[in-house]
Amino acid sequence: MSLQEKILGGLYGQALGDAWGMPAYFDPYQTWEAYGGWIDKFLPAPDDHPVHAGLPAGRITDDSEQAFSLAQQFIRDGGVTLEGAVKAIITWYDRVGGETSPYVGPSTRRGVQALKRGEDPHTTGLWGDTNGAPMRISPVGLLHPGDPLGAVRDAVTVCTPTHNTNVAISGAAAVAAAIAVAMTENATLDAVVSAGMMGAELGRQHGRRWLGPSVARRIEMGVHIARGSGDAFTRLVEIYDVVGASLSVPETLGAAFGVLVMAEGDPRQTAIYAANLSGDADTVGAIACAIAGAYRGFDAFDPALVAVLDADPVFAEYGVREIAEGVHKLASARLARQE
Ligand SMILES: [Mg+2]
Repeated sequence: MSLQEKILGGLYGQALGDAWGMPAYFDPYQTWEAYGGWIDKFLPAPDDHPVHAGLPAGRITDDSEQAFSLAQQFIRDGGVTLEGAVKAIITWYDRVGGETSPYVGPSTRRGVQALKRGEDPHTTGLWGDTNGAPMRISPVGLLHPGDPLGAVRDAVTVCTPTHNTNVAISGAAAVAAAIAVAMTENATLDAVVSAGMMGAELGRQHGRRWLGPSVARRIEMGVHIARGSGDAFTRLVEIYDVVGASLSVPETLGAAFGVLVMAEGDPRQTAIYAANLSGDADTVGAIACAIAGAYRGFDAFDPALVAVLDADPVFAEYGVREIAEGVHKLASARLARQE
């Protein structure tokens, strides 16, 4: 499978899981009752959804918009820099009208407001401990095929301005390292999960020491439940009840690796499980499907689903195929230097 195909798979996966989970409610039973079973296609947000009401079927949210903004900035800068991460996140914030938008997460809002006051980006993220860090990090993994350590290093840089705590960096590093390994030719799902756990441990050594359980252990727990007995819905409820699916980083990562493994890395099935898991479903879906997409490649995506994403004006505005080309140039230059 070509590198291009894996990069495009990672980017479309991010969007697929995000848009698929967007209409989900807060717990699995609520989502199941509202939709009469599995969310098995793109759906609009229901009118009573507290965050996403008004969004049409197939619409991405802040997770993918921020990931794509970061990727565009990395391409402009020729790689990952702290200044670039600052610029990308402020640009996105202003574009969505961040001061009044319900999409801006708590840590990102706090960080961006401090950055705008002119504070040092090494201190603006010291309180950032929620899942904005892992939800937008996938492009960093795509830039480092086969190099999880390089992916972790760049993940630390990207987290610094808004999520400079060890719990947030641990989550972002887990995603970046898992994707870096998913990008390799003969990657197995076990190797991807192991890379995620290793990335979590390495990431935990960076940033301000903060309270929170081990991301690696939550990943282990999510995967253990995913591989257990019982039907798929029962295992999802178990993940929701035991691992959690709130904005907490260890919960998000445990849930994301859980649904990824339950779906055996298939992007569409991963999206279905993430959506019915509920909670912060768009973020769990975006993370899990970005990994799935890098692992299985763009060919694993149903063209009809790709067409729905392509037709959405917000997604189209980002020019994801162009982003894929830019990321491919940077990733292959890096590979060439390693040889
Ligand atoms: Mg979101």
